[in-house]
Formats: sequence, structure tokens, C-alpha cells
Amino acid sequence: MKPTSPTDFWDSLAAFANPVPHDVPDAMRALGIDVLRELSRTDSAEYLAHCPAHLALTGKRDRRPSFSVNGSTGLFHCFSCGYAGPFIQLVEDGLGYDRVSAFQWIARQGVYRTAEEAAPAPVDEAPRINEASLALYTAPPARACARRSVTPEACADLGVLWDPETRHWILPIRDPVTRELWGWQEKGRRYFRNYPAGIHKSLTLFGDLTWTGEAALLLESPLDAVRAHSLGITGAFASFGAHVSEAQMRLLKARCRRLILGLDNDTAGRTSRDRIHNRWRPRGLPMKFLDYSHTPAKDLGDMSDADALAAYENAHHPWRRRR
Ligand SMILES: [Zn+2]
Repeated sequence: MKPTSPTDFWDSLAAFANPVPHDVPDAMRALGIDVLRELSRTDSAEYLAHCPAHLALTGKRDRRPSFSVNGSTGLFHCFSCGYAGPFIQLVEDGLGYDRVSAFQWIARQGVYRTAEEAAPAPVDEAPRINEASLALYTAPPARACARRSVTPEACADLGVLWDPETRHWILPIRDPVTRELWGWQEKGRRYFRNYPAGIHKSLTLFGDLTWTGEAALLLESPLDAVRAHSLGITGAFASFGAHVSEAQMRLLKARCRRLILGLDNDTAGRTSRDRIHNRWRPRGLPMKFLDYSHTPAKDLGDMSDADALAAYENAHHPWRRRR
């Protein structure tokens, strides 16, 4: 992308950098997040706190604390509600700043580092992931596909696999540009796990990462994206949860002219949907909301084929609320 104005230039630069404040716990306090505990590790520290987004995303306060920020990488994560991202996003969300102001705020906290310098990959701890890591998995069996109303073709298109031992779905998580394999999400009945732990899933999307077109559809769960693809809906992507990061929105905006927001029809999904709309409509991305008015289902995966297609076809403008 060619920068066209100084603001675009800073925006582009900031999008590729990942600044981390010199003193992470101090910066957390400056954002109003009290550090409750510090877990020291050999190469870094984790700072535990109550999750600042919990109330907005789930309707409940975080009592545990479930939220941690890594002292070297600045990556934050709530293991309860899934709110996660790079430190700069915490600043944007916490202070209501755009990316450029957040970048400048971090710079003012003292010397900042970029995450790449700050976090040399822990060579022996991190499992090595490459395509061979998927060798034990098979194509999903027809019965499993039928149960989820997805087609074997859609699974093949999106690289979805199956673990015959645990009978879990294997949903690959790939680099959005190189499509290099980062890991995967294992999904069973009332079970899911991201592998390896700490995978930066908020920096990519699930779906056909080579796709570009008129309208993209954003869903929470990868299997719902497979479902949409099975119904002939192209450009369906999943954010791996109700929280959608700035990086994920940039990836979407680069791929489509307009976006249909199909986050779950629950408190977390609707809160996130409205937040995305308020932030990204002014940035030139027209959006519609998936229509749930004809169904009690909270996501595409729970709908009949006809209801799912109707939800997509009848996607409506945000100002025509039909809750
Ligand atoms: Zn949380």
C-alpha cells in the first residue's frame, strides 16, 4: 500500500510495528489496570490483572483475575473471555485512541521496544510447527460433516482436518500473508483448545486467506465459516471469538468492499459488533449485520440451511435494528 498522506504513513508504519512500553506494569497502571500478581519466568514475566474488557464482552466482571500481559512481548490475553492482542491495542481500547495516538502514547511512556526485538523465540520450549505436524490428521469423516452440516468439499477448501483418535476437528491457524502454519484449533463437543498455547490467533483470520471480493462475512467460530462456505457463501472468515482485533479488521478491509458482521447473537457478540461498526464505518468500510430476527439461534452453526441463507440474504443496515 502506498502512503498518500502523512497520517496514512504513520498509520501504515504503526500497523507494522508492535511497540511495547519499557515498563509494562507501569504502563498497565497508567491505563487503570492494577497489576495483582507477577509470574516470573526465565525469559519474561507475566502480569496478572482483572480483565478490563470482561464486563463489556460478557456482561460480568472478571473476578479471578483472568487477564495477563507478557512483560517482553506486550501481548495480552484473557483466558476467560478471549480478549487478546498486542499492547498497542490495549492502549487503543483503554484510552479510546486511534492507532497513531496509541503509538505516540506508548512512546511517551519511555523507551519502547518492538516486540520482535523484545521477544527472541524461546527455542527449546516452543513446539516446532510445520505442515508435517498435521500428518496424523485425516479428512473429516462424512458422518462428522453431516452432524455439523458442512460439506467435505468445504473442509478440503479451507484445509479443515480431523483427529481420528480424539474425534476432534482440527482447524488450522495460518499466517495471513505467507499462509505458513502457526498451529490449529482443536474442537470437540463443548471442548476447544488452541495449539500451541499462546498462538497469536488475533493476528490472523480463519478462512480462505487468498480470497478477495465484494462482501466478506465475519463469524466467530471457524466451523461456522466452514458452514457458510458449504452453503456457497464466499468470503466467510472467523475471528476465533467475539473479540475482533485491529489486525483482523485490517485483514478484512484489505480483502473486501463491504463487510457483513455475523458475530454471535449474544451479549459479547453484539457488543463487539457495535464496537466494530462504530470504529470502522468512519474508516470507509460499509457494514451490514447478519439478520437473526427469524431465528432463536445464536450463530450460523445452529441454523437450518434455509435460516442460515436467509440470515445472510437479509443482512440489514445497522440503523435498522432488529434484535
Ligand atoms: Zn476477559
